[in-house]
Amino acid sequence: MDGDVVLKDVALSTLLGPAGHLAGADMPARNRTDWSFLPATNPRAVLRPTTTQEVSSILRYADSHGVPVTPQGGLTGLVGGARPLDDGIALSLERMVGIEEIDADGMTMTVRAGTPLETIQKAAAEAGLYFPLDLGARGSCAIGGNLSTNAGGNRVIRYGMARDLVLGVEVVLPDGTVMPMLNKMIKNNAGYDLKQLFLGAEGTLGVITRAVLRLYPAPGCTHAVLCTAESFNKVLAVLSTVRRRLGPLLSAFEVMWSDYWTQATQKVPGMRAPVEIGGASHVILIEMQGLDDTIDGARFAQLLEDMIEQELITDGAVAQSLGDVAAFWATRDAAAEFANPAVIGPHISFDVGLTVARMDEFTTRAKQGLMDALGCHSVYYGHVGDGNLHVVAWVPGADPQPLSEASRIVYDIIGDMGGTISAEHGIGTLKKPYLPLSRSVEEIDTMRRLKAALDPGGIMNPTKIFD
Ligand SMILES: Cc1cc2nc3c(=O)[nH]c(=O)nc-3n(C[C@H](O)[C@H](O)[C@H](O)COP(=O)(O)OP(=O)(O)OC[C@H]3O[C@@H](n4cnc5c(N)ncnc54)[C@H](O)[C@@H]3O)c2cc1C
Repeated sequence: MDGDVVLKDVALSTLLGPAGHLAGADMPARNRTDWSFLPATNPRAVLRPTTTQEVSSILRYADSHGVPVTPQGGLTGLVGGARPLDDGIALSLERMVGIEEIDADGMTMTVRAGTPLETIQKAAAEAGLYFPLDLGARGSCAIGGNLSTNAGGNRVIRYGMARDLVLGVEVVLPDGTVMPMLNKMIKNNAGYDLKQLFLGAEGTLGVITRAVLRLYPAPGCTHAVLCTAESFNKVLAVLSTVRRRLGPLLSAFEVMWSDYWTQATQKVPGMRAPVEIGGASHVILIEMQGLDDTIDGARFAQLLEDMIEQELITDGAVAQSLGDVAAFWATRDAAAEFANPAVIGPHISFDVGLTVARMDEFTTRAKQGLMDALGCHSVYYGHVGDGNLHVVAWVPGADPQPLSEASRIVYDIIGDMGGTISAEHGIGTLKKPYLPLSRSVEEIDTMRRLKAALDPGGIMNPTKIFD
């Protein structure tokens, strides 16, 4: 279908101008799918508004004509949530960028939804403040996408998920109504907190156009160690110790199982191993953001000394600079390179959540189940301090990989153990069949009723999360 012909009814192409309305051969390939790498679709147009009013006009048009609309941020989502529908509209927020205000006294920043996360982090730092949300896709993902997926990332153990870092949003409802909810107060119990509906909704209830973010004081110092442990029980003992000894200063607790460590440090080009794993079973990345280097640096050093003496950890590399801290994190972020054929090549990624105490049981069951049924290898790592594990699974040489068979095995174990099939990436279309393993019939029914109330025409990113 010719996007121009269809949309000029309401003069959308005139309203948005040639740079804001791309159809036919002008439509960028990148807007046809996301990082799920599901096959590209064929939307009728990619619309790139620059104002909230333009978003409102687009949604009003789409609602009255029954045209599905898929909001898009940086397209780094991993579950197909930003992949538009054939013949639908891809609504890209990429031109709605910029920081509108930093309120240093109130510790807030007001931003437009298409602003890349990294731009926000840098602006906060330039103002002597700190925006703690951080993830590997920071240079490409946009804050509207982060809020719509309720992104987690690297420092959840201290600052919470995206939901905890936002005080207000401006949202456009599917019928074009603009909801101005740019609250700046931490406390506001005046009725329902409606913004919560849109956080983590994966664009199925409305389009986030602006947000008021919560800022923190910049850390006075950052210390990190990469250390090795001989069993998962030791990992649990280390977690309990650092929680007790560092309290709110603990900013990350990441664990890499030995098989992940081998892939990351021996196969990923250019990656070095800052610590030798030897015969240990796990490598732990512990990060602390302190207030005063003299006091907190000594506190961190003493903690490590004690953990070695108590034989909780066997070896450790201590970061001497922020460059070292970044190098430690690079081993943890190396999974982004696994698609390289020199490392693993085509593979399947999982993002599951379960109680920390049962994580090792899960890895043993999943590893065995995948290998026995499919000859599928798997490695494990994740934000263990947040109860969140990532799994990378692959059948050597298979392309495509057995996605649905492997998913069924992993998610059945997760369902059986009372975990969640999505700790931080969302459901999109990729995980839709498995939602009932993590949410009750009553919960899914209530989600459907909320959707029907806000989007009776069903135009807002349909087919995502549930049908
Ligand atoms: C290398 C890499 C590392 C990653 N690490 C993490 C991690 O540690 N933690 C984590 O949580 N995620 C991680 N992700 C996943 C991804 O980066 C996050 O989900 C991110 O929050 C998506 O942001 P985006 O702007 O790219 O959104 P998109 O992919 O464009 O969209 C994601 C969803 O949000 C909706 N959406 C986008 N913008 C809006 C809007 N303005 N209003 C309403 N709906 C909207 C879309 O329709 C879609 O459903 C990673 C991805 C990659 C590629």
